[in-house]
Amino acid sequence: MTDTITQQLISICNKYPNKIAFDNGEQSCDYQTLNQKVINLAAFLDTKVNDNSPIIIYGDFELEMLVSMLAATRCGHAYIPVEIGTPKDRIENILKVAQPSAIINIGGDWEVSTELPVISLTDIKSAIETNNEFHAHPVQGDENLYIIFTSGTTGVPKGVQISNDNLQSFVDWFTNIEPIQAQQNFLLQAPFSFDLSVMSLYPSLLTGGCLRPLKKSVINNFKSLFETLPQLDLNIWVSTPSFMDICLMAPEFNADNLPSLNQFYFCGEELSQNTAKKLFEKFPDASIYNTYGPTEATVAISVVKLVPEMLSGDHRLPIGYVKSDTKVEFFDEESNSWSSEQGEITISGPSVSKGYLNNPEKTQQAFIEKDGKRVYRTGDAGSMNSDQMLLYNGRIDFQVKWHGYRIELEDIDAHLNQVSLVNQAIVVPKYQKNSLKVQNLIAFVVADKNDFASEFELTKAIKSELAQGVMDYMIPQRIVYVDAIPQTPNGKLDRKGLMNEVNTA
Ligand code: AMP
Repeated sequence: MTDTITQQLISICNKYPNKIAFDNGEQSCDYQTLNQKVINLAAFLDTKVNDNSPIIIYGDFELEMLVSMLAATRCGHAYIPVEIGTPKDRIENILKVAQPSAIINIGGDWEVSTELPVISLTDIKSAIETNNEFHAHPVQGDENLYIIFTSGTTGVPKGVQISNDNLQSFVDWFTNIEPIQAQQNFLLQAPFSFDLSVMSLYPSLLTGGCLRPLKKSVINNFKSLFETLPQLDLNIWVSTPSFMDICLMAPEFNADNLPSLNQFYFCGEELSQNTAKKLFEKFPDASIYNTYGPTEATVAISVVKLVPEMLSGDHRLPIGYVKSDTKVEFFDEESNSWSSEQGEITISGPSVSKGYLNNPEKTQQAFIEKDGKRVYRTGDAGSMNSDQMLLYNGRIDFQVKWHGYRIELEDIDAHLNQVSLVNQAIVVPKYQKNSLKVQNLIAFVVADKNDFASEFELTKAIKSELAQGVMDYMIPQRIVYVDAIPQTPNGKLDRKGLMNEVNTA
C-alpha cells in the first residue's frame, strides 16, 4: 500500500531535517522543526476536537497556518482554508455548509459568532511549542484531506472535497512533468483558499523544497513586490497569468535579476500568447508550462511546455496533454451524446473529487456517472486535436475568471439582488479588446426609490452593502442604472444580450 501524503511528508522531514521548508520573510522553519510543530499541534487538536469533521483554518501565509493545515490532516481531519478578509456572510455560509468541528483563528480578526470552539493564535502558538505524546492517525485513502470553497451559482459557496488519493494523483503527475529536483524554492502566490496554492504547497513539501509565499500586502504594493521578488531566490514559479502580467510590467523582472528562476507553471485561467511571448523575452532559457484544470479535479489535469513556435498567429494557446491516469471526453448536452473530439470537457480519473460537501443537488448536477465511473462536467468547451492536445474554447455557462479568481456571475446577482437599494440586478463581464480576458464586471441595476443626491453616492452605498456578502474581487467595478433589465423572448433576463452590448460598444 502506498504511504499517505502525511507519511510521505514525514519521510521528507527525516530526509532533509535541516533544510528550510517554509520562509515568509518573517518566519522560517526547517523540516525537522516543522515536523515537531505539526506533531505538537496534532496532539493538542486530538484533545480539543472529538469527531472527524473538517477544521476551518482562518489566516494568510503565517507559519502557523501551514502547521495547522498539516496538523489537522495528521490527526484525521480535512482542513478548510479561509482567507483573511473573507466577508462575514460568506463565512457564515461556509460554516452552515461545512459543519466543521472547530475553527483555528490564525488571522486574529475572526468575527463570526459560533458555538464551535474557536482556537486562538495564542493557544496555537503555545500548543505548537509544547511536546506531547502523539500517535499519528492521518487522513488516508478516499478520506477528505482538504476542502476548498468556490463560488456557487445560488450565492452559497460550494465546498470541493479533495481526498488523500485525489491529491496523490495530482502530486505524482505534477512533480514528474519536469522532474522536480530536491530543495527548490517555490513561489506561493495564491492564497491557501484557492486551489492554485496546492500546486506550490504539496509539490514543494514532498520534494524537500522551500515555500516562499508572497503576502497580499506585498503583492498589492508594486515597489515592495519588486524589492521582495529577487530576495526569494526562486527556482519554480507558480501563479495565475494575471499575476504574471503585473510582474511583466516591471523592467527589472528578468533572468538577470532572477537568475535561478527556470520553471514557470500557469493555471487557473487562460494564458495569452502575449503574456507567454513577453515572458520568453525576459527568460529566454526557462521552461514555461500552461496547465489546465478545475478545483474539482485537483488543481490541474493537463500540461503543455510552450515552445516559441506555438506563439504565432492569433489562436489560443493549447491547454496540454492529459495526465496518463485521467480521461477527458466531451459531452454535448443538446444531443445528450459523447464525443472524443469536441464538446464540453468532462474529466474522469483518480484526481476527480467525490463532489461538493453536504450538497448532493449540486454534486449530482456536476458529477455524473458514465460506464460506472464518476465524471466531472467542467462547463468548459474544448476539443482534442489529432496530436491528443487539449484545446480550450471558452465557457458554456456564466462562470468567469477575474485575475484568476473563479466567479459565478449568478453568485454576484444573488447577493446584489439582496442589497436593500436594489430592485433587480444582473452582472456581465466586459472583456479586454480582442481577448477573452475579463477587464471588469458591470452590474445593470434597477434601483429602488432612494434619496441619494447622485448615482455616485448610490453606487458607493450599494457596493458597501454588497461587500458584506461577497469577496472583494466579486464587486462589480461599474454599476449602470436602468429602468428595466432587458429580457429574452421567453422572459428570462437577457445576460447574453447585455454581454454583447457592453462588449461591442
Ligand atoms: P478553478 O477551479 O478556480 O481552478 O477554475 C477552473 C476553471 O479555470 C476551468 O474550468 C477553466 O474555465 C479555467 N482554466 C483553468 N486553467 C485554464 C487554462 N490553462 N486555460 C484556460 N482556462 C483555464
